[in-house]
Parts: sequence; C-alpha cells; structure tokens
Amino acid sequence: MYNLHCHSLLSDGVLLPSELAVRYAAAGYKAIAITDHADYSNIALITKAILEFTRHWPKNRKIIVFPGVELTHLPPEQFEPLAKYARKEGIKVIIGHGETLVEPVITGTNRAALEADIDILAHPGLISDADIKLAKKRGIFLEVTSRHGHCDANPHVVEHALKLGAKLILNHDSHRPEDIISPQDLINLGLRAGLSQKEIDKIYREVGIYILKKEGK
Ligand SMILES: [Zn+2]
Ligand SMILES: [Zn+2]
Repeated sequence: MYNLHCHSLLSDGVLLPSELAVRYAAAGYKAIAITDHADYSNIALITKAILEFTRHWPKNRKIIVFPGVELTHLPPEQFEPLAKYARKEGIKVIIGHGETLVEPVITGTNRAALEADIDILAHPGLISDADIKLAKKRGIFLEVTSRHGHCDANPHVVEHALKLGAKLILNHDSHRPEDIISPQDLINLGLRAGLSQKEIDKIYREVGIYILKKEGK
C-alpha cells in the first residue's frame, strides 16, 4: 500500500519526516513520498532537506520513503523550470498542485503542470478531456484524493480518466496525524469515487511498477 502525497513541517504539515514515516509504517503502508509545497522561495531548501532525510532513512526499515515536492500555486510558466530543478537535484516524486475547486489556483495550471516533468497531477478539479489526454500521453498519474474539499471532484476525475484511459492514483495529501487513514479507507475512497475493486487493483499494480522504477529496480 502506498501514499505518494503527504506534507511535513518542511511546509504546512505538522510532523517531522521521521514521524510521518513511522506513523505510515504503523498504519500498514509500504511506501510513501514526502511532497512538501514548493515555489521559488523554498525549493532549494526543501529539496536539500528531504534528500538529506531520505538518504539517511535506513533501507531495512519497514517503509520506503521517496523524496518529493508539490509545486504549488506557481505562475504556470514556472512549472517547467522548477520541475526540471527538482528532478536534477534528485527528487523522485514531483507533484503539480492542480486546479482544485476550493482554492484560487491560476487557470491553466493543470495544462502547464502536465507539460512539465511531473509524476502526479494532484486534485485536478474539473479537468478537461484535452488535459486528461495529455496526462495519458505523458504517463502522468491523475490523483483521486481524500483531502477535504479537494475530493469533491473525484467522481469527475475518475469518470473521465477511465473513459479516456489515463492513469489514476489514490493518495491522501495528509498534513496532520488525523489525516493518515488506513489503506482500506483509502480503497473505500476510491470505491466511493466510482472505481470498481478491479480498477483499484489495476491502479495499485501500475503504482507498484512506478515505485519499482523509482527504486531503480
Ligand atoms: Zn495540493
Ligand atoms: Zn498536498
């Protein structure tokens, strides 16, 4: 079981990366990505900090921790250079903070993020079919999220991604200990969003392949 989207106190989460890892392992997860919010003001600091953390996280622990970032509220033209920077530094999981219905994310963000070197477009709101096709073409995961408010568009994302054949991922975008839900609750979220158990199994197979690639296996 995986959750490739969570926040630590390197941005607006409340837990240290170590505590996130320990709590997710205790909840039954095998791999997480710590993906703090980044823009030009902090990307150098948080990429350095999370890479330092993941380099020291023991390989024999029960959980794999990938270094990540979530490029958030950027002027759209900044997705490309900042994704490139994060990748070059060694960040494995790059998320674009998509056009959720509950925040004033700049119009055009979904498109700009999908054109950049990202792995996951988070909470993409009422994403257009053209953008879903671009995600499919570029192999970028579209996120089904448990985050309050952001999750309102899950049925739209699921319906259109299934119709057009784009890859989905189930994540929970945690900021606080209370946000860490069990693997089964994350599956239930997918079912409520309109996925069948068979489709959820396929999502986990695809994410599993992606994780092996990120581990260099
Ligand atoms: Zn976000
Ligand atoms: Zn987030």
